[in-house]
Amino acid sequence: MSNPPIVRLRGLARNFEQGGEVIEVLRGVDLDIAPGEIVALLGPSGSGKSTMLQAVGLLEGGFSGVIELAGHDASKMSASERTRLRRDHLGFVYQFHHLLPDFNAQENVIIPQMLVGKTRAEAAEHARELLTTLGLEHRLEHRPSQLSGGEQQRVAVARALINSPKLVLADEPTGNLDETTSEKVFGQFIELVRGKGSAALVATHNEALAARMDRVVRLHEGRLE
Ligand code: ADP
Ligand code: MG
Repeated sequence: MSNPPIVRLRGLARNFEQGGEVIEVLRGVDLDIAPGEIVALLGPSGSGKSTMLQAVGLLEGGFSGVIELAGHDASKMSASERTRLRRDHLGFVYQFHHLLPDFNAQENVIIPQMLVGKTRAEAAEHARELLTTLGLEHRLEHRPSQLSGGEQQRVAVARALINSPKLVLADEPTGNLDETTSEKVFGQFIELVRGKGSAALVATHNEALAARMDRVVRLHEGRLE
């Protein structure tokens, strides 16, 4: 039997109600992502990119349609199964880093490994190696507030990738960086995702960054084109 897609969406829909008015943000999104495939999700601000990533990341309810991850139907999972799947198989990178402010860079990358059973020593070594690959060997003991925006995002990338997730979800991962830093951090991110063999769905409104991925899909009026 061939591998199922890592992501399979059919008729994914989401409405929001605001001030008595219903906004149909997603109106039947269909998408398959193969294992290891890196897909750019393009669309202007407000087109529903973050909403779609939240659905695939099993972060929120309120969706209709089919969401399958690695052949498992999300609607048939219990809350604890969804949590386990997120922890074991997904990595997240957000526009703003969401690092833990009271922990240093290395600790931020150690914690997700300890959640999946690595020893502290093993996790520390692994974190140091990956942060060094990202050029942060001199920043291991800095807290997020002591890092530049680009450095913070590189730590966030390391945290998302450290457990070699099957799927990385990234929501405008370099959207708050200046163009030069964005280019550089984005290049490192894509290289790392490819090196790990992870699949990825990456929201961006930057066409040049999108062109560096395997495939581009565009959200338009609640559907992909
Ligand atoms: P994007 O990430 O592409 O900028 P979003 O997914 O954040 O778009 O938002 C898509 C639309 O859904 C926007 O019109 C936004 O205002 C609306 N929206 C998102 N989240 C909510 C919410 N929790 N309540 C009401 N409307 C929302
Ligand atoms: Mg968004």
